Amino acid sequence: MRYAETGFNLEIDLSRGSIERVATDPGVTELHLGGLGTNAKILWDRVSHEVEPFSPDNLLIFGTGLLCGTPAVGCNRTILSTFSPQTLLMAYSMMGGFWAPELKYAGYDKVIIRGKSPDLVYLWINNDQVEIRDAAHLRGKGAMETSELIRQELKEPKAQVSAIGLAGENRVYFASVEQGRSSASRGGIGAVMGDKGLKAIAVRGTKDINIARPDEFMELCNGVLKYIQFREKNPIKGVPPILAGLGSPQEMAIHDEEWHTTNFAWGNARHRIKDYWTEEVERKWTESLEKVRERFISCYNCPMKCGATLNVPGHPTYMMKCYSKLTYTMASMTDLDFGFKIAQRATEYGVDAFSTPQVMAFALELYEAGILTDRDLSGMPSDNEGRFLWLLDRIVRREGIGDVLANGTHWAAKQIGKGAEAYAHNNIKKHEQLPLKLGMLNPIYFLMYCTGEKINITQIEGQFPQAPFPNREDREEFVKDWIQVPDEKFKQYFLDWDPRGENSIPYYPTIEATCEIVDWQEKMHYLDDTLGMCAGLSSFPLKPPYHIHNLPDFVSSATGIEMDEAGLSQAAKRNRTLVRALNIKRGMRRKDEKPPEDHWRKRFPELETKLLDEYYKFKGWNNQGIPTKESLHELSLDYVTEEFLQRGILTDNEDAPSKEASAETEKK
Ligand code: SF4
Repeated sequence: MRYAETGFNLEIDLSRGSIERVATDPGVTELHLGGLGTNAKILWDRVSHEVEPFSPDNLLIFGTGLLCGTPAVGCNRTILSTFSPQTLLMAYSMMGGFWAPELKYAGYDKVIIRGKSPDLVYLWINNDQVEIRDAAHLRGKGAMETSELIRQELKEPKAQVSAIGLAGENRVYFASVEQGRSSASRGGIGAVMGDKGLKAIAVRGTKDINIARPDEFMELCNGVLKYIQFREKNPIKGVPPILAGLGSPQEMAIHDEEWHTTNFAWGNARHRIKDYWTEEVERKWTESLEKVRERFISCYNCPMKCGATLNVPGHPTYMMKCYSKLTYTMASMTDLDFGFKIAQRATEYGVDAFSTPQVMAFALELYEAGILTDRDLSGMPSDNEGRFLWLLDRIVRREGIGDVLANGTHWAAKQIGKGAEAYAHNNIKKHEQLPLKLGMLNPIYFLMYCTGEKINITQIEGQFPQAPFPNREDREEFVKDWIQVPDEKFKQYFLDWDPRGENSIPYYPTIEATCEIVDWQEKMHYLDDTLGMCAGLSSFPLKPPYHIHNLPDFVSSATGIEMDEAGLSQAAKRNRTLVRALNIKRGMRRKDEKPPEDHWRKRFPELETKLLDEYYKFKGWNNQGIPTKESLHELSLDYVTEEFLQRGILTDNEDAPSKEASAETEKK
C-alpha cells in the first residue's frame, strides 16, 4: 500500500488527445519525496535542455506535495513546474487553495501535460473519469469567470478549477494560473498552459488518502494547531507587525502601510516617497479596504485566513492576499481604490501581480525618457490610472506595444533598444523582483538573491530575522524559545549581530555564518515545496510551527518512510541540486547570479565575490556554480554527472567547466 501519496500520475498528451493513469515508482518517492522534487526528476528524465518553453515537448506538471490531502495543517500547495519563456530556466510556482488536496482525493499525485491541443480545451478529472473537453466557448474569458462557467457546465459546484485568462491564452511571459483562492504567478507558467491550448483543469475527488501511522500523525497535527494558537497570542516582539505573526503577511487585515509605502519603491521600482504616509492617507486607505473587503478566507485545512474576498463596486468579486494589495497602487503612483480596481481586472486576465505593474511602470518611464513615443503609445490616456488600464489591456491582448511589453522588461528592453535596457533594472535571471531599494549590502540577502532559483519575490528568505534587533536584551529574549534553529550556533550568530559597529552588515554575519544561514533558509523552502507545505507556516515566518526538528516525524508517520533530520536534509539537498542541474544544463552560470545592481546603494565587490565563492564551495559547486562530481555522487545523482561530462559542462579531470556560458546568451 502507498501512504500519503496515491502512487499514480495522470499523463495527458494534448497533441494525441490521450489520457493515461500511470503507476509511479516508490523508489523515486524515497529519494525525492514528491512535489517539486519529483517534478524536477521528471523534467530531468524527459525534457531535453534543447526543448524550447513553447515546444510541444516541454512538459507542464501540476504536482501535489507529498503531504497534501493529509490532515497536516496548511499543507495544500500545488507545485507547477515547466521551463519558463521568460527566464528560459526551470520555473516552479506554487499555489495554495484547494486544488492539490482535491487532486489527491481524485486518486492522483500529479497531472503531467505534454503536446499541444489544436483547439482550446479543458481537462475534467472526476475521480476515475477523465475527459479532455472543448473550451472554444471559454476563449477570451477571465480566469475566475472560466472557473465558474466550468462548474456550472459540469453541474459540479465542488469542482476545484485552475484556469488561465486572456494573458495565458496569448502567451504573455508573466501570465499566471489562477485558482480562486490562490495563483501560481511566477515564471510565466500560465503562458505555457496557454501555448498548450489548455484553458483549465477542473478536479473533483472523493477518495481517501492512507496514512501509515495515523495516531502518531494526528498527534503531530494537533501539536501544530496548538502552536499556531500560542503564536497568535504571542507575536514576535521587536519586528514590524507584518513580520510578527504566521501565514502570509496579513495585508487584508492591516491598515498601517507606513512600512511598505516608505520603504518600498514606487513607479518602476525606483522612487522612494519617505513622507507619503500621513493620517489623512491612513484614514482614506482604511476606508478603501473596509469598503471592499467582504470576508477573510483561508486555504484548505488552515486556520490562518490570510486572504480576503474583495467586492469593488461594479466589478465581480475576487480574492486577494499579501503584498499584491500594493503593487499596482505603488507602481502607478495612485491610491488603494485604483489598486483594488485594476487588480480585479488583472486577476481575470491572469497575470503576475509583481511583474505586471513593473512592466507597465517601465513603459511609462521609457515614455518619459523619450524612448517610447506617442507613436508607440498612440491612444494612451493622459492620466496614470487610465494609462495603466490601457497598457494592461494591450499587454494581455499583445496589441501594438503590448506585444513587446508582454515579454517582460528584460526582453522588451532588448527589443526596444535605444538605451531601454537601463530601465529594466530590477531583474534577477530576467525576472522582475520585489521593488525594494536599500542602503547597505546585506550579505544574507546578497546570497539569497544571487543563488535563488525559486524566482519568488523574496527568493528564499525565512527563519533568520531580516535585521538585527537594536538591544542585546531583546535578542536574548528572542533566542530563548527559538526551537526552530537546526543548531545552537545560529542563536549565537543572532545574539552577536549588531545594527552598528564591528558586528554589523555588510561584514557580519561572517561569510561562514552567512553561508550556513542561507543554506538553512533554502533547505526549508525546498522541503516545503516538496511536501506541499505553505511557506507561511514553515520556511517564511519567524518561529513557525513546522521546522527541521518536527518535519521528519510528519514524513515518517504519514508515509512509513523512516526519516530523520539528516535524511530529510539530504533529500532537500538532492532536490535543490537537481533544480540547479536543470538550470545549469540550460546555460545558467555564475554571471547570471547577481541581484539588481541598484538593490543596495553601498556595494562591496570584493566581499560579494568572496561570499559567492564560499557559498558555492559550501554547497559542493565549482566556481561557476556547477555541482561537482563528488557532490553529485554523494546525492545519488551520478546520472547528472554523466550528462554533464557528455555535454562538456564538467570535464573528466576537473570539475571546472570546459567553457563558460550563460543563460543570458542562450538563444531565445
Ligand atoms: S497560512 Fe495563509 S496562505 Fe498559508 S495555507 Fe494558511 S491561509 Fe493559505
